Amino acid sequence: MDESRVAFIAIVGCPNVGKSSILNRLLGEKIAIVSPKPQTTRTGITGVLTTPDNVQLIFTDTPGFHKPKNKLGEIMVHTVDESVSGVDVCLFVVEPEKELRAAELELLRRLKAAKAPVVLAVNKTDAVKDKAEIALLILKLTKECDFEAVVPVSALKNEGIDELLDELKKLSAPSMHFFPDDTLTDQPERVIAAELIREKMLLRLDKEVPHGVAVAIERFSERDDADILDIDAVIYCEKESHKGIIIGKGGAMLKAISTAARKDLERFFEIQVNLKCWVKVKEDWRNREGLIHNFGLD
Ligand code: GDP
Ligand code: MG
Repeated sequence: MDESRVAFIAIVGCPNVGKSSILNRLLGEKIAIVSPKPQTTRTGITGVLTTPDNVQLIFTDTPGFHKPKNKLGEIMVHTVDESVSGVDVCLFVVEPEKELRAAELELLRRLKAAKAPVVLAVNKTDAVKDKAEIALLILKLTKECDFEAVVPVSALKNEGIDELLDELKKLSAPSMHFFPDDTLTDQPERVIAAELIREKMLLRLDKEVPHGVAVAIERFSERDDADILDIDAVIYCEKESHKGIIIGKGGAMLKAISTAARKDLERFFEIQVNLKCWVKVKEDWRNREGLIHNFGLD
């Protein structure tokens, strides 16, 4: 048996660069939600991976780094600072682009201040024809920060993930494991269910609606007499007009959302799911501390 080791890893980077996709590939399971719209990941979801050579990697997938616009935004930026302090590795994810973004430079500045070892993953290499572009980007980034390692990856094509895993493992330290070795996430099942439902909304609805929604799971229980999981979810939105959009003509949109969510939930929990969704209006919930607390976002 190899020596027991642990690494705490914060995944950081701008919205939409593929942080959740990389985490999912590393874990080999769908835990963090993925969508083409930025700012999908709201809570810092933790994934846990214990490798056959006895290394436990504990991940937090932080919300995308951006300038705060409201209370929720402030909390999200705060989460970035919080989650990089004291970790063994910051996994900094970028996507191939000609120019470095201001937010990325700011993020690198914060990582330097936190004195955290940083591993750079350049994701979406599949989307670039000229590989010299990637080399140029890496050159620019290495001028800003001393990376422990630089790994080009494609979460989409599942390329470079093993190499990335090796680099992360190198930064682990001898320690007892903090989670049972078969743990994939320490997030309660309810949070995973809520995130999966929210993902389905993000994929189907217009820009202004989804980021004003939250999903609360009011019931999550397995029946005693049958292998059925009953899940009741309330979708909270900000305006009456949004409620109409989410429900759709004759309930069509809500039905599409809940059908897609149910399929994913059944795959994830490996049990038949009876999912019921309601839509309620909570005006301007983004700026209310109390509600933010209720939704577990602080
Ligand atoms: P996050 O906001 O950083 O967590 O990004 P997500 O993981 O949610 O991904 C954002 C978008 O980029 C989604 O549409 C993904 O399908 C897409 N994406 C992620 N990884 C790759 C990749 O390796 N190649 C390509 N072409 N697209 C990717
Ligand atoms: Mg994400």
